[in-house]
Amino acid sequence: MFCTLWVIIWQIYAQILHDNCMYYISMTTDNNTSRSDVQRNEMSLQSWDGMWNENFIPFHESKVHKDLLKHEKTLISHPGRIFVPLCGKTVDMKYLYDQGHSVVGIEFSDKAIVQFFEENQIQFEKNDSKFEKFHEYKSLDGKVSLYAGDIFDADAENLGRFDAIWDRGSFVAINVCDQEKYARIVTNLLKHDGKYLLNAFTYDGSKYQGPPHTSSEVDVMQRFGPYCDVTLLDTYDGFKPYHKNWGLDSFLVCNYLLQLKQGSANL
Ligand code: SAH
Repeated sequence: MFCTLWVIIWQIYAQILHDNCMYYISMTTDNNTSRSDVQRNEMSLQSWDGMWNENFIPFHESKVHKDLLKHEKTLISHPGRIFVPLCGKTVDMKYLYDQGHSVVGIEFSDKAIVQFFEENQIQFEKNDSKFEKFHEYKSLDGKVSLYAGDIFDADAENLGRFDAIWDRGSFVAINVCDQEKYARIVTNLLKHDGKYLLNAFTYDGSKYQGPPHTSSEVDVMQRFGPYCDVTLLDTYDGFKPYHKNWGLDSFLVCNYLLQLKQGSANL
């Protein structure tokens, strides 16, 4: 009885989250966006910023992601430099920092970045970044640097290259029309022997248009295959009751390991 009540409450909550998200997308999608773009649910940077300003962040999780914990040793076996694109305020960064890694993130919302440092009680300072398009927020020990700005302005010249990349809620948040460009920019930040762990989703895209966006293994190969060898590490059923409210009846989580191809431009 209690259990049934809890499921009903959760479903109502999930529906509200979904409706709010759709509201944001419809209210904030660029006015000059074509109708077909709207149908694919494109998000502008202002839409994301609006969600942070309204404290509407259903993607944020309070626990370290279980797939990071599962594949951590495959991703990196020694303390190194890790990049977290579109980082939000994920607690995964605090976890990686606690493991002795240096962490660099990019996030459009300054608010998310400040909340990350404050909520994890890491003292930080805001610097005028060396790169004019970003503000840099840096922990006082220099081991966490979060840049406020657009991922599409990032390159290896300003950020350097990384031993590892953890991509959760990042590739899947990128508008489909920009995914190819995203893949090129982010893989170019890998060291020649670096590893990239991509957490992605597969569901019926005719029923729900994201974000998070669906991508099949073929889609992932198309985006990342020109630069990387792509290995599917695992897949599992990630279906949650609220996915029903998105019109879905299946939701597969897929983890991929990406490694630069021999002879790629970064070598
Ligand atoms: N990876 C985080 C956040 C996922 S939600 C997590 O797991 O919790 C996607 C995040 O990307 C949002 O915080 C949004 O503000 C940010 N974002 C979206 N487009 C961006 C862009 N072009 N450049 C930088 N950040 C962006």
